[in-house]
Amino acid sequence: MWNAGPVPAHYTGGVNAILKSDLLPGDWPNRFAGLGAGFYTSLGADPLPDPHWVAVSDDCAQSLGWPADWWQRPDWRALEVFSGGAPWPGMAPLASFYSGHQFGVWAGQLGDGRALLLGEVAAPGGSLELQLKGGGLTPYSRMGDGRAVLRSSVREFLCSEAMHALGVPTTRALCLTGSALPVRRETLETAAVVTRVAPSFLRFGHFEHFAHHDQHAHLQTLVDHTLQHHFPDCNSAAEMLATVARRTAELVAHWQAIGFCHGVMNTDNLSMLGLTIDYGPFGFLDAFDPGHVCNHSDHQGRYAYARQPNVAFWNLHALAQALLPVIGSSEAALAALEPYRAVFPAAMLGRLRAKLGLATEQDDDRTLADDLLKLMAESRADFTITFRRLAGFVPGTPNEALRDLFLDRAAFDAWAARYAARLQAEGSVDAERAARMNAVNPAVVLRNHLAEQAIRQAREGDFSEVQRLLKVLQTPFDEPAQAADAGFPPAWAQHLEVSCSS
Ligand code: AMP
Ligand code: MG
Repeated sequence: MWNAGPVPAHYTGGVNAILKSDLLPGDWPNRFAGLGAGFYTSLGADPLPDPHWVAVSDDCAQSLGWPADWWQRPDWRALEVFSGGAPWPGMAPLASFYSGHQFGVWAGQLGDGRALLLGEVAAPGGSLELQLKGGGLTPYSRMGDGRAVLRSSVREFLCSEAMHALGVPTTRALCLTGSALPVRRETLETAAVVTRVAPSFLRFGHFEHFAHHDQHAHLQTLVDHTLQHHFPDCNSAAEMLATVARRTAELVAHWQAIGFCHGVMNTDNLSMLGLTIDYGPFGFLDAFDPGHVCNHSDHQGRYAYARQPNVAFWNLHALAQALLPVIGSSEAALAALEPYRAVFPAAMLGRLRAKLGLATEQDDDRTLADDLLKLMAESRADFTITFRRLAGFVPGTPNEALRDLFLDRAAFDAWAARYAARLQAEGSVDAERAARMNAVNPAVVLRNHLAEQAIRQAREGDFSEVQRLLKVLQTPFDEPAQAADAGFPPAWAQHLEVSCSS
């Protein structure tokens, strides 16, 4: 395996520069490819014509163990490789088979319609797969063109890295390339390719695919593969399902706690590893509305913010059903889902306590938190800003900046008195509590208007805002240099609409 160690990052030439060309990263193992022909189609990407870089995540490259200048080394041909051109030796691109339920309805085969797995990197923290998204048609592209547009790719790139910095399990984004290639959506846009990174891109839908087609031998093979490589602590499909249920519960509690709305929680968009995957019409809550629907294509509000925990459980049932032929009994499959019922509320309560800066546990903490959320909803108080201002709460003072966020000041004062008493009961120290709270309540999240500004400039060929925003989002708990990054959305942002179109 290529090792970044011996080559100094500042090295610019000399004999080692020639040697470096031989030291492309990795020999590209691909354990998924080892599953055999019934699980994927091998095919190359359709390269973006005349590609250019849009952005690179140094942080993600570091997690791969790659040097900071990996993308600039002429002999690495990185721009070509990560825009769908001829891959590095050893990479063997493939499109995997998966199906799924979309908006609660069985949708048949869905993927991979525009993603190609390139292979794995033996990274310092464990094996990581690299995947191109938007690299052209596959046999499963259905009515699609196999492409991803710059707009949605900027959003996926930024949010993947933002979620990682927030501590939320997620697929990562290594880099983003673009091209003038026209792509038709509602309007004419241009194409881009995101390189995603994750220990595995296995989705619930991979298992549903083989269950639906009664390919039980394939299903068993996939379960064995997944157990061996991704759930080494589990001895059976039922144990694996229980672990997926727990991780999904933890994940969704984390989403709820930071006000993240996924937007398309179809079963093909849920990760077996409990990662946030498939950044499409996602959104972060601005003015708090539990019924907020971030995806304008979601007319029923199936994936509204407050429904995410129940939808995740619904999806887990679909996974349980898919695993039934391997697990053997529906009682055992249902029992494996039970952890969700306990883990989600416990994880949520833990995160709410942390958001309130509570260091101890009291029976009515949930009520205290819920009552604040209720007041926030009534006032449409900004989700992120409210919790950030709550960190500055000082009992016995007017707390004006916070109080101003609420329409019903008397109701807020009544809640504040309860909060003050609760803090006093545990001997809370204001400054210490504020520091704790500011480490869990982000100052900056990827609000639609922030992404939109970066997208508008990127469309003009100026990628500096994408890069700037990436840096800001990598330290989301720090007050940003530009206060507007942590501010209320501007009036024009109210008209932004985000749909499934990507
Ligand atoms: P999504 O709802 O974005 O997860 O998309 C559902 C499925 O549609 C994915 O599995 C993709 O493979 C496929 N898909 C989405 N957009 C395209 C596209 N432009 N071309 C081909 N396939 C696509
Ligand atoms: Mg998807």
